[in-house]
Amino acid sequence: MTANISSYHAHIYYDVFATRGVADGIRSQIAERFSVRLGRWHDEPVGPHPQAMFQVAFLPQLFPTFVPWLMLHRAGLTVLVHPNTGSPRADHLVHAAWLGAVLPLKGEVLPEMQDIAEMDTEPNTRPQGAPAA
Ligand code: ZN
Repeated sequence: MTANISSYHAHIYYDVFATRGVADGIRSQIAERFSVRLGRWHDEPVGPHPQAMFQVAFLPQLFPTFVPWLMLHRAGLTVLVHPNTGSPRADHLVHAAWLGAVLPLKGEVLPEMQDIAEMDTEPNTRPQGAPAA
């Protein structure tokens, strides 16, 4: 029932001291290649996320190019890819895909239901030229 997926998030986890630079490199490459909404840096754990991370929001049509690209270019970082269906708890805990290690999410802070109309997926990157390779 992919018609129920309004968008996806990729959460890219890093260690503030060891791998923030790696995450910054991935972030720059994403911005150059994909029309997505890059979220701000969270150097402290926020919400259900147990480590520092930044979020990338993207529309379903980008999944077949962006997620494979992440698989090949995550440079050892852990990435959580989850759909947004209006059920945040299930989206994170049941429907998610992990690249790399599986981290223990704090699922209890996630609401069962959320109005997806409030989610901002407007791209804020300006990819140049060639499609992702
Ligand atoms: Zn998310």
